[in-house]
Amino acid sequence: MPKYHINVKPAPPRFLPPGKYVLIDREEGCLGCKYCVKKLCPYGVYNKREFDSIQLRDTIDYYCRNCLYCVEACPGGTITLMVNPTYLEIGDSYWKPEIITKIWRQAETGMISVSGAGYRGPFAGSGFDDMWTDMSEIVRPTRDGIHGREYISTDIEIGRKLSYLAFDAQGKLASSTPPLIEIPIPMLFSLPGWGKWGKPVLLSMAKAAKTLNTLFIIPLAQFTKELHPYIDNLGIYIDSLEELSALPKDVKIIEIPYNLSQNFQVIKTSHPQTIVMIKIPLSPEAKQRSLTLTKNGAEVFHFSADDHGLEFAEKPRFIKDIIKDIHLSLVDEGTRDEVTVLVSGGIAMAEHVAKTTICGADGVILDQVLMVALECRLCKDCLQGIPCPIDIENIEPDWGAQRLINLMNAWRDQLLEVLGAMGMRDVRRLRGEMGRAIFYKDVLNEAFASIKRK
Ligand code: SF4
Ligand code: SF4
Repeated sequence: MPKYHINVKPAPPRFLPPGKYVLIDREEGCLGCKYCVKKLCPYGVYNKREFDSIQLRDTIDYYCRNCLYCVEACPGGTITLMVNPTYLEIGDSYWKPEIITKIWRQAETGMISVSGAGYRGPFAGSGFDDMWTDMSEIVRPTRDGIHGREYISTDIEIGRKLSYLAFDAQGKLASSTPPLIEIPIPMLFSLPGWGKWGKPVLLSMAKAAKTLNTLFIIPLAQFTKELHPYIDNLGIYIDSLEELSALPKDVKIIEIPYNLSQNFQVIKTSHPQTIVMIKIPLSPEAKQRSLTLTKNGAEVFHFSADDHGLEFAEKPRFIKDIIKDIHLSLVDEGTRDEVTVLVSGGIAMAEHVAKTTICGADGVILDQVLMVALECRLCKDCLQGIPCPIDIENIEPDWGAQRLINLMNAWRDQLLEVLGAMGMRDVRRLRGEMGRAIFYKDVLNEAFASIKRK
């Protein structure tokens, strides 16, 4: 099997992102030491330091890795690190500054961010943080590294799969096989539900999807002739049946909203070789809808939560819990293997891909995280007509594509680490493997169930 490989290249930020700390370096108190600690910075930060005349700021805050060496070692006590208030304002309660900064670093370098001081994240919390992957079976695939001789596949198939094959009296295949697309990473691209994205953003996504050989789902209204060279890696979303006739002939995937699903067979009749994906917002009705549609021949579901991974409901559940429920219901019906389940909403870190897969998804559709990789600060100024601080409308598509490719490499490497540490050689085996995860609620129940409330 040819090994899938992603070529990374540095894609530095166009606008220096806010660093976590501001480094204050005072002249008063300087003892004029012969060996100034600034020359001994392990990252050479003081040598790279410049004044950014566009953003009117010292670049040292971005380059500084906050190791505190210079702060501690300066005998005159002239150097101080302070938390940067601008940094704390990035994102929101879910898309936290640390997550956004990590995405930026991965998009720049293509490498896994290493903290260098062990795991400093939460050990329990809400959302994906109440689930731990159990990687206690470190066996052969990791023996010579995740890119070693023993290939670990991250391929998934998108489309309907037959539960059995029929053959005629001559032994020839009598079943007609539905269209199926294989992609080498379980991650597809789409646009976030907010914002208006111009051609450079769309081209960046299409170019990256083509290089990675994955798929970028784009609304028909935003499909232009400039995107046609990327058609093999595009899925097109339509809002109404009237739009069917405007679709390019060679489109591989059509995405339709749930309210068009009663026309599924009409669409399949006019486009038999095109996969039809049904987008279902994650709501309390999503499970029953998917069970009924699967019985009626549905091929691919795209379950979408909001940007924080929450269900559209009064008391919303988190995406992984709903996917678990839907996956297990399809398993109970005996139809799970017939359909492809893709999910979107709140996928902000590589570990979220592994965790949604464990909960039963075949793959994820990334949206907001891709904008962050393109340097978006999630300030949403663009929605209010305020100029974008990173001028997103004028990015260079090759640079944008490289940032997305780099991010996907860093995420795939992390997925390979998880699979390798679990002794798995194929991401398809991870789907629904809930026994390979520990759920905080289960641990609590196990530990305290016998203690009765008085
Ligand atoms: S805190 Fe560490 S990385 Fe930052 S400037 Fe000082 S020595 Fe360099
Ligand atoms: S950085 Fe802010 S203004 Fe620019 S695209 Fe992102 S949300 Fe919109």
